[in-house]
Amino acid sequence: MMEPNGCSCPAWKFAKAPKPDCHHIAFIKANPSYGEQAFKQIVLANVREVTVRDDGVLLTPLIAFNDLHFS
Ligand SMILES: [Zn+2]
Repeated sequence: MMEPNGCSCPAWKFAKAPKPDCHHIAFIKANPSYGEQAFKQIVLANVREVTVRDDGVLLTPLIAFNDLHFS
């Protein structure tokens, strides 16, 4: 399984190397239908559901994970 190179959320961006998986990366790993694809990056976006953009960026809904740390 390919893993994304990174995530746009603060939890991941500001983590020190080696960066732990944030909720979004963990979500991708937990969902083989998404995890089989190679993503350049995970980006939080105003989308209704997880969406793969043409350029290989995975868009994840801002509120999908119900995580107050990101609000
Ligand atoms: Zn993230």
